[in-house]
Amino acid sequence: MLKDAHNRIINYVRLAVTDRCNLRCTYCMPENMQFLQRREILTYEEIIAVMQPLAAAGVSKVRITGGEPFLRKDLMQLLSKLSAIFPEISITTNGVLTGPFIPQLKALGIRNINLSLDTLQRDKFKQITHRDQFPAVMHTLDNLLEHDMNVKLNMVVMGGVNTDELLDFAALTATKPITVRFIEEMPFNGQGHAFSGQQWHYQRILDTLSGEYELQKLKDAPHSTSLNYHIPGHKGKIGVIAAYSRTFCGSCNRIRITPTGGFKTCLYGHDVLNVRDLIRSGASSDQLMQEIQYTLNTRAADGFEAEKGSKHWDSMSMIGG
Ligand code: SAM
Ligand code: SF4
Repeated sequence: MLKDAHNRIINYVRLAVTDRCNLRCTYCMPENMQFLQRREILTYEEIIAVMQPLAAAGVSKVRITGGEPFLRKDLMQLLSKLSAIFPEISITTNGVLTGPFIPQLKALGIRNINLSLDTLQRDKFKQITHRDQFPAVMHTLDNLLEHDMNVKLNMVVMGGVNTDELLDFAALTATKPITVRFIEEMPFNGQGHAFSGQQWHYQRILDTLSGEYELQKLKDAPHSTSLNYHIPGHKGKIGVIAAYSRTFCGSCNRIRITPTGGFKTCLYGHDVLNVRDLIRSGASSDQLMQEIQYTLNTRAADGFEAEKGSKHWDSMSMIGG
């Protein structure tokens, strides 16, 4: 079993399979984002070479992210291999290309999909993402629900951009069995745009929602990053994620692997190891796991400690969210 320096069990990996994206969300990357070369990215064989020993060490949950994961060629092949190794696989996607893959995902037992959507207005979608793909994303949402998938809709809350839509998003839960999650904006935008700071702290989001709705607190799962609520009579749920306030670090059970094999023990910290380089230099599974355990032995207590002295705001597409 993998444990960190603070005795936290590590059983969850977020795996970013590409840095590429078909959108340019302003809060995530600049329009002229420089993408990685193919050879810099972990191959599927290399991904399996690190994921297999992680599974053997007790990791049971994997989230596939990116960049936009469905841009990676033959993603279904990788998912098929991973689903034979891990009991729980979920995916975070912008939904533009996702629709046609839903039956295959279901057949692999992958039912948990986080769909990123920051506005319910087509014009504003284009402003935020620099691409006119709103209809495709809404179509994917409908499609996911028709296939009984577990959908979490992630909305990054940006002051002056989409805060007028908080109640509209909450209203979606009246008729749709989805969890709408409001996420504090973080500074990981590749420095393409100014970070609006903590104008929209999670408490302000909750206060705005409570002004209109009765929010009943739900019991949060042990490692949940969201504070979860239910509006009486609604089919879905509400979550608020204090991603910048970092209220949930104490129970963090996750590690991250970036597209280049960077190993992160905290979203706010640097890569502490590179598994691609280790694998390419011939390291065995045991050596790989030994190195991973060393990094966990010095893991920061929380995101504030991790960012100390080394604030660096890569694009989230390089980290995986
Ligand atoms: N492309 C996929 C998508 O957008 O769902 C997966 C990768 S994306 C980097 C993962 C998540 O990170 C998305 O929900 C996105 O909204 C979120 N994200 C990206 N940049 C962010 C930022 N600066 N602050 C908060 N969340 C961010
Ligand atoms: Fe692409 Fe996701 Fe980043 Fe938007 S948040 S630019 S969809 S990687």
